[in-house]
Amino acid sequence: MPRMWKNWSGGVSFTPAHRAAPADEDALRRLVLETAGRGGKLRVVGAGHSFTPLVETTDTLVSLDALTGIVEVAAPEALIKAGTRLQALGPALAAHHLAMENMGDIDTQSLAGALATGTHGTGAQLGGLATQVTGLTLLGADGEFRTCSETQDPQLFQAAKVSLGALGVVTAVRLQLVPSFRLKAVKARAHLDDILASLDGLLAGNRHFEFFWIPYTDVVQAKYLNLAQEPATPRPLAHVLNDLVLENGALWALSEAARLVPGLSRAVCQVEAAAIGGQTQIDDSYKIFATPRHVRFEEMEYALPRAALPAVIADVRAALTRGKYAVNFPIEVRFGAGDEAWLSPAHGRDTAYVAVHMYRGMDLVPYFSAMEAIFRAHGGRPHWGKRHTLGAEALAGLYPRWADFLALRQQLDPAGMFLNGPLERIFGLS
Ligand SMILES: Cc1cc2nc3c(=O)[nH]c(=O)nc-3n(C[C@H](O)[C@H](O)[C@H](O)COP(=O)(O)OP(=O)(O)OC[C@H]3O[C@@H](n4cnc5c(N)ncnc54)[C@H](O)[C@@H]3O)c2cc1C
Repeated sequence: MPRMWKNWSGGVSFTPAHRAAPADEDALRRLVLETAGRGGKLRVVGAGHSFTPLVETTDTLVSLDALTGIVEVAAPEALIKAGTRLQALGPALAAHHLAMENMGDIDTQSLAGALATGTHGTGAQLGGLATQVTGLTLLGADGEFRTCSETQDPQLFQAAKVSLGALGVVTAVRLQLVPSFRLKAVKARAHLDDILASLDGLLAGNRHFEFFWIPYTDVVQAKYLNLAQEPATPRPLAHVLNDLVLENGALWALSEAARLVPGLSRAVCQVEAAAIGGQTQIDDSYKIFATPRHVRFEEMEYALPRAALPAVIADVRAALTRGKYAVNFPIEVRFGAGDEAWLSPAHGRDTAYVAVHMYRGMDLVPYFSAMEAIFRAHGGRPHWGKRHTLGAEALAGLYPRWADFLALRQQLDPAGMFLNGPLERIFGLS
């Protein structure tokens, strides 16, 4: 009996006719060939943490949950099976005294799933996850395994690092790693204008810098992560409680209040702003990067030219003042270096990422539409895994290698086995 599938936020649901979790690469290859043989469709799912309907299918949904683990380590590189969850990878790499150079703010994603949408963390001198990839293996619609890297099929390599799962099934990824390191995380209250005025210095002076801005206020929580030589600090119970009960629990309670009475959102933001304080913690890098996220929300994030950030913030501020949207979630601002992957939202330019969120169950359209118009006006590119409304025409103008990607996709999968409705709309094929 087909079962309904839902993503993390609950905003995407569908019922695939078949589900599969092949035990190994051979079983996966047989499944691909069988699906191709009957003219069927196949989408791969990672951890289901995308907000967009990328994995949607009425035919076959494939999980690589059985294709996990480190295959081999040749420091500073490691070959890793594509279904490996990042939360399992951290300790597994640490056992080899290795670590990922940078990570996003959760670690529940699968490695291939995170790569497919251009997942990133923060750090002006550091790229997104795709920049840590030195090679990958892709199973195509013809049942062939193709391995690519900077030197071996470099075109496929730049296309497959951020592929939206449209080129085939990634089965293994080679990552460039760094020796294990500890990070000191400092969270501090600050004024938005002070942060913007000193941004260049903050970005140059911190390995990772980001900030959360509370809508309708000038209050931000700034987050600075830097290398630490000191031993890990045991997490005080107060911090654990703060994350679990205050950050997640109180955010949930305040969000529920805003959902039930949307007119309270502005007042809820004032309460949240008043509660922002400081915190310091030292631990292994992979433990510091990941934050528990128990309160469910929807998210839109755009990658903007880094230099446009002050103007974007000014426009968002003005829109919030004018629009009085029912929103009580912070706006998250992060940074990353430009990269070469053809469909990376940071392709070819140093980037500021601006993310807006809406508590699950609240009307996101007025707020997200207004924010998206601002992001687009400043040349923003949407995060592939987060909500956006762009179609092929708009996207083609944002990516210099767009036509090359589409041509390669057509060559690798002429029957469109790895396509679904949302991808056809994005690629202008429907
Ligand atoms: C709470 C939360 C926090 C987040 N934080 C961040 C963040 O800090 N930074 C950031 O950039 N993003 C963030 N995201 C977005 C998230 O990283 C991306 O949406 C990511 O793609 C999800 O990974 P997944 O394993 O769940 O993939 P899924 O959502 O399951 O799939 C995503 C895409 O990957 C494809 N795919 C999966 N496996 C394969 C494979 N083996 N071969 C080919 N294609 C494959 C799928 O077909 C699909 O197109 C966050 C999301 C949530 C819900």
